[in-house]
Amino acid sequence: MPDIIGASLAGCAAALELLRHGQPARLHEKSSFPRHKVCGEFLDPQAVTLLSDVPLSGTPINGVALIWPSAESRFPLPAPALGISRYRLDQTLLDAALASGAELIRDTAKPHAAAIVAHGRKPLSQKGQRLFGFKAHFAGPTNDDVELHFNSFGYTGVNPIEDGLTNVCGVAREEDLKDTAFDIDRWISNQPKLAARLQGRVRQMDWLFTGPLFYGPTEASVGYLCGDALSFVDPFTGSGMLCAVATGQLAARSVLQGLTTEHHTEACRRLLMPAFRWSSLMRRALHWPLVPVLAQTLSGAWLYRKSRPSLQGSAPRNTQSRR
Ligand SMILES: Cc1cc2nc3c(=O)[nH]c(=O)nc-3n(C[C@H](O)[C@H](O)[C@H](O)COP(=O)(O)OP(=O)(O)OC[C@H]3O[C@@H](n4cnc5c(N)ncnc54)[C@H](O)[C@@H]3O)c2cc1C
Repeated sequence: MPDIIGASLAGCAAALELLRHGQPARLHEKSSFPRHKVCGEFLDPQAVTLLSDVPLSGTPINGVALIWPSAESRFPLPAPALGISRYRLDQTLLDAALASGAELIRDTAKPHAAAIVAHGRKPLSQKGQRLFGFKAHFAGPTNDDVELHFNSFGYTGVNPIEDGLTNVCGVAREEDLKDTAFDIDRWISNQPKLAARLQGRVRQMDWLFTGPLFYGPTEASVGYLCGDALSFVDPFTGSGMLCAVATGQLAARSVLQGLTTEHHTEACRRLLMPAFRWSSLMRRALHWPLVPVLAQTLSGAWLYRKSRPSLQGSAPRNTQSRR
């Protein structure tokens, strides 16, 4: 039975795929669920499709608003995304895997060559600017948009999740957060449009932090890598969970087809690289002075499509040769 290390999105997607093909799955998870996690909690429409066997209850998100201090650009999503907290989503996926027959072991497992490695980002030593993520849930009026508020370097996403709550989640440079001693309420109050958006909303939990964040492939590891254990994409795209689910399913199929781990990684690379290149380009461009003006003429829907892997309504299939 393949060991799956990590029982969050990528791990549970892998387990469900194995079980769907009549194979057993053993999940190792070091944390107790449910638990909050720093995440924008925007589940891409394609991820909703990939998880269509699992009953997910959140709030539909129909549009995107890109907001700079001096300009705004809005566009509809190609299909509804889902706003759903990681508290609920991760528990729902784990419940679905267990109900389908997965075994769960509460431990900290070590990656090995035959394992599906879904343990998420591993901290890397990094030189230069350090980025941190933060998030909290707010009560108060909601809408059906995901809003991305850009500031001089980072951004903050605002979108509805379940139970009438709004998730507020962002990424900022450590040096900028130090200006307000990591007090996110004060940091937000310095950004007029974001502060106006959150007026009348009441924070329901302490701010959670994660980081430092590092974008790109993770440290070399062994096994069938998937999700953030494989590569971490800048969260402004809101595609990390999609990539986790898609590569989790791919890892399961790689195991079932007897592919080598190298062939599996290559299949993931072909799936993710075009979107990652675009995302990396867009991340750099987002803070150029002319971009807010250009964004009003460019097709937001086109940029959105470019920033995520296209699964064309179905899970990707491996085509590499067997070992
Ligand atoms: C600030 C921020 C905002 C984001 N916003 C969005 C968004 O709006 N939309 C989106 O799609 N993506 C977003 N993402 C990305 C998304 O959160 C990740 O891509 C996604 O969580 C990856 O899922 P995963 O299953 O690979 O890893 P994780 O969700 O990190 O799960 C890994 C699991 O493995 C467990 N684990 C770790 N090590 C071990 C071990 N040795 N043994 C056993 N268990 C272990 C952990 O406890 C954890 O449960 C955001 C990320 C950040 C940082």
